[in-house]
Amino acid sequence: MAGKDDEYDYLFKVVLIGDSGVGKSNLLSRFTRNEFNLESKSTIGVEFATRSIKVDQKTIKAQIWDTAGQERYRAITSAYYRGAVGALLVYDIAKHLTYENVERWLKELRDHADSNIVIMLVGNKSDLRHLRAVPTEEAKAFAELHGLSFIETSALDSTNVEQAFTNILTEIHRIVSQKALANEQAGVQVPRNVETITVAPTTTNNRDQKGDSGCC
Ligand code: GDP
Ligand code: MG
Repeated sequence: MAGKDDEYDYLFKVVLIGDSGVGKSNLLSRFTRNEFNLESKSTIGVEFATRSIKVDQKTIKAQIWDTAGQERYRAITSAYYRGAVGALLVYDIAKHLTYENVERWLKELRDHADSNIVIMLVGNKSDLRHLRAVPTEEAKAFAELHGLSFIETSALDSTNVEQAFTNILTEIHRIVSQKALANEQAGVQVPRNVETITVAPTTTNNRDQKGDSGCC
């Protein structure tokens, strides 16, 4: 019975980042399982969850990584970012400090992630209208200034959650297919599937190469 679920054209790794408590884990559970949890369970972190969606007639399998609460100590390792083609940088529209810290997260991305990573700024908890501390227009302008996409979401009432993930995956897909096209025109052979699963860096040496040739 396995099969259909695992047929996809592209596999994209997307990471969730942002201050603790902004709703990253709930955005993930809302998107992948349609679930929301009122309690914050920062210690029980899954590594990642997946969901496939159709984008431009292609099946995109999104592998979305969530932290296990390490963001609290700013202790996210570079393995978390390795191979990521997208990042949802989340803040809480009702907590100004989480928005101020977006600059620090951008720096973290510059230091650890691929320079071509697609970043979307996400103002979560849009349902907390009466507690809003970050005006939509201000965040939108900030995003524009830094070349980021922008959206406001609510993992609680589901507003724009689907849209946020669909938008970033569409953006990544367009970039990847444009690159593939450019490569094709330049006569470079590229595999159809873009595998972005993390692979530990290997050091090449002669012995490994000999070993490989006798393999499989
Ligand atoms: P994380 O630390 O960024 O992973 O945040 P969590 O997903 O654990 O959420 C932290 C707290 O915010 C929990 O109590 C959630 O129930 C709550 N929360 C998450 N998303 C929303 C939202 O969209 N609206 C509201 N009102 N609360 C939310
Ligand atoms: Mg969490």
